[in-house]
Amino acid sequence: MKVLIFGKQASGKGTQAKLIAEKYRLVHIATGDIFREIRKEDSELGKKVRALIDGGKLVPDDVTTEIVMAKLKSLGKKGFILDGYPRNLTQVKAFEKIPIDIALLIEISDAEAVKRMSARRICNNSKCGEIYNTLVKKPKQEGKCDKCGSSVIQRDDDKPESIKKRLETYRRETAPIMEFYKKKGLLKEVDGTRPIESIFREIRGILDKIKH
Ligand SMILES: [Zn+2]
Repeated sequence: MKVLIFGKQASGKGTQAKLIAEKYRLVHIATGDIFREIRKEDSELGKKVRALIDGGKLVPDDVTTEIVMAKLKSLGKKGFILDGYPRNLTQVKAFEKIPIDIALLIEISDAEAVKRMSARRICNNSKCGEIYNTLVKKPKQEGKCDKCGSSVIQRDDDKPESIKKRLETYRRETAPIMEFYKKKGLLKEVDGTRPIESIFREIRGILDKIKH
């Protein structure tokens, strides 16, 4: 089975992707993780990706596609769930030669995304970097990291103004992708505001209908 998963920041798509991968024995491919891995490699590609990421630049479409395709090729006949790709229409076009079974969209409202994202806190000690959440995972002592005792802060990226910008970028890039898969009859939308288990139950209902 070949699955794509989409969703705003804080939609819970990463959690669902993990559950799906376990249940259906799919390889979970998150492009963010792949980039972090490659960044550490002492190869030509590693150097290229490191220079881009460290320079605060996005990895260009052709390089991203090359990396994803190489990863998929290494899987042989195994199924996969792909998270973080394709990210724009250029990537969608490049990816068209790979037949997929379904594109899942975990949908939450902007208000919900802002609520969830602005609850994020992070340990200010870069060596620790423990992540907290004022709604579901508060530090035991307010403002202090449970693991290392450093201060727990809100990243500028998680403040409402930045969140709104990130959501706008998401919409601009993702709307045409959703339109593309919808036209092909491959898009399934799932309400992401419910508890993790209910969302996963609905997804299982969808995936169980796919022959694999
Ligand atoms: Zn810490």
